Amino acid sequence: MPGSKKTYKKRILPMLPLRGLTVFPHMILTFDVGREKSIKALDEAMMNNQLIFLTTQKDAKNDSPDVDDIYNVGTISRVKQLLRLPGNTIRVLVEGLNRAEVRKYVQTDPYFIAEVAERIVPVNRKASITDEALKRKVISTFEDYAKLNGKISAETIASISAIEDIGQLSDIIASNIQLRIEQKQAILNESDPEKRMEKLLELLISEIEILEIEKDISIRVRKQIDKMQREYYLREQIKAIQSELGDKDGIAGEVEEYRKKLESVKLPEEAEKKVLKELDRLQKMQSGSAESSVIRTYLDWIFDLPWSKKTRVMIDLKKAEAILEEDHYGLEKVKERILEYLAVLKLTNNLKGPILCLVGPPGVGKTSIAKSIARALNRNYVRMSLGGVRDEAEIRGHRRTYVGAMPGRIVNALKQAGSSNPLILLDEIDKMSSDFRGDPASAMLEVLDGEQNFAFRDHYLELPVDLSDVLFLTTANSLDTVPRPLLDRMEVITISGYTEEEKVQIAMRYLLKKQMKAHGLKKKNLRIREETIRCIINYYTREAGVRNLEREIANVCRKAARALVSGNRKSVTITPSNIEKYLGTRKYRYDKANERDEVGLATGLAWTPVGGDTLAIEVTIMDGSGKLELTGQLGDVMKESAMAAVSFIRSRAEMLGIDKEFHRKYDIHIHVPEGATPKDGPSAGITLASAMVSALTGRAVKRNVAMTGEITLRGRVLPIGGVKEKVLAAHRAGIDTVILPLENRKDIDDIPENVKSGLKFVLVEDMDTVLNTALAAEKSRRNIESGDNDQGSVLLTEESAVVDDQSSAHQM
Ligand code: ADP
Repeated sequence: MPGSKKTYKKRILPMLPLRGLTVFPHMILTFDVGREKSIKALDEAMMNNQLIFLTTQKDAKNDSPDVDDIYNVGTISRVKQLLRLPGNTIRVLVEGLNRAEVRKYVQTDPYFIAEVAERIVPVNRKASITDEALKRKVISTFEDYAKLNGKISAETIASISAIEDIGQLSDIIASNIQLRIEQKQAILNESDPEKRMEKLLELLISEIEILEIEKDISIRVRKQIDKMQREYYLREQIKAIQSELGDKDGIAGEVEEYRKKLESVKLPEEAEKKVLKELDRLQKMQSGSAESSVIRTYLDWIFDLPWSKKTRVMIDLKKAEAILEEDHYGLEKVKERILEYLAVLKLTNNLKGPILCLVGPPGVGKTSIAKSIARALNRNYVRMSLGGVRDEAEIRGHRRTYVGAMPGRIVNALKQAGSSNPLILLDEIDKMSSDFRGDPASAMLEVLDGEQNFAFRDHYLELPVDLSDVLFLTTANSLDTVPRPLLDRMEVITISGYTEEEKVQIAMRYLLKKQMKAHGLKKKNLRIREETIRCIINYYTREAGVRNLEREIANVCRKAARALVSGNRKSVTITPSNIEKYLGTRKYRYDKANERDEVGLATGLAWTPVGGDTLAIEVTIMDGSGKLELTGQLGDVMKESAMAAVSFIRSRAEMLGIDKEFHRKYDIHIHVPEGATPKDGPSAGITLASAMVSALTGRAVKRNVAMTGEITLRGRVLPIGGVKEKVLAAHRAGIDTVILPLENRKDIDDIPENVKSGLKFVLVEDMDTVLNTALAAEKSRRNIESGDNDQGSVLLTEESAVVDDQSSAHQM
């Protein structure tokens, strides 16, 4: 070192080797001494100025170190206090004075005495700029160290900053930081103050680095542990708070239960995540709060859905056939079509094909066929009615933000089914409508689309629901109102109404058994013969299907059950003569055909979504100015048919023997009774014309004739639809001659044989044939004689009587 001159002073001192401890000059510390050799050295020191040479043994575990086991450099110290502790131990308080180095050992036994060289630093040593720089650097680094270490008091830091001498400074800092013994010794070994400072700085910086890394690690570890502990701790806290608030059954318990449930069921990943999220939210709530019950309902819904539950589906055509046969009478064509459909399902082995749609009037067995299909395929069956659905939300549910929100009907149906591969019957798909709240048909389209429905989204659940394993079936009364895009996805099977004979068979073989069983009646309890059933069909029901028939049979069973129980009887016999006792007076006249031939009253045939029906059309002619009045809720098309009929009659007036000016002189009033039901369509054309011609000519319409067909201005008769239903209705009403357009000839094949054989069909191409068939050749005598008609008619018959001769002349 420039300017520093080394001077040494020799001393002979007792020596004490320390274990794991380094004493620096200026340092005051206590330590305990137990080794005999050390105690002796201490005793010697006490007798000799209290000075002792303290140095460190290289290995702390060595009990009796030799000279080689001890570092050479140590500190000459003064013993300030001695305290004898029990067990031959002495506690010593010492103050480090100056560093010194062993020159030689004077003695090693019974204690060490060494000759040491003490370095004397000149008191007037001048501090250099380097010293100052070093000092500042060391102090600031030490402060950083202290901050990281956290164990060094503020006073220590303050007192250290006040030290001027760099030698002293480095010694004091070295004694205050945590270093390994070798590192401390290295500082002690360095007698040059500047070099010592540099060494210390180096150590401090590396220590800081280590501390920083340590801190990082501990922060990281603590974060991990903290997160787990924190959650645990918070949960415990919530439990405690809730029990403090008197929440005995506690949300915590509930959450726990949900968690257990979650472990026991298999939910799709997305659903599981959702449940966990909701549980976290629930946990923070109070059990009575409205929001918690919203979450609970939601969770219950998720757990109630059959996510992965399935029944074992099998398509066994033989079995399916047997089941369809077992449950339903007749319907041969329908059963065949269904078996074909199932065969295709089996071959393609997926449900992406068209959806089966059963179309027909109520009570013809659409629902019950669907049930049989489900049974045959071993799928659970659910019926979902679409009648009156006008809001998309009914299909898809409401978002949970709405009060009282619920999932839509599809999800509801799945829950009800209890398996994820049921057969869902979408009943009355034609009764679905749309309004401003959105179109349910578009939602249905997604539901039925095999390419999309594996991830159907319900607004309430907010989770994709897989519908690709669901077999959908639909029913409708009529296809007119089914939205086109839906219709395109469907394979339609039409079921038309039953004949009386079929109804009798269905009732005898199925309905009666079913209802007797439902009412707890044994075979011997109720005697009811075929003719009685026929009587019920004809006088108590008027329908295409058998729904009301079944209801009436149920009625009979109920009444019979009561008679049995209250009258102590063994059996009840029901016959056509006592049926009124059970079912009340007859509701319908079987023979709905007119009782006699009437002028101005013709029987038409109509098709309605609930089956065919007869339609009485009345026409009255009155003096007037040529007004055409139509009453009975007639639609536009029907009104136009009436006008076409008038024009046709005008063009044939002469030939028919009608006053050419009739359309100016008279008012024509057309009325179709049963005004409550709207009527429309062109097929009443020929009936309107016949009734008008009858009223204008006075020729009565034959009571046993019914007709249907569209009329053109030139009197041609055009084909119409719904022939089968219409003919069945005519048959029901006791008609024996049916006038049909020639072009509808092919439809006659569909009519059951027993109906066909009881009817005479007249196929017509023009109105003339219709009139010849339907009207009596002569004008009605009754009208002329009795005069029981209104004035207009009487007047007309008198007039037409004149022309009548002419017309018959023409016909000849
Ligand atoms: P839809 O769904 O067409 O309105 P349903 O399936 O409800 O008619 O039928 C009404 C009742 O009539 C049911 O009890 C059904 O079993 C019975 N039914 C209908 N057609 C037949 C049939 N061909 N054979 C046996 N029972 C039938």
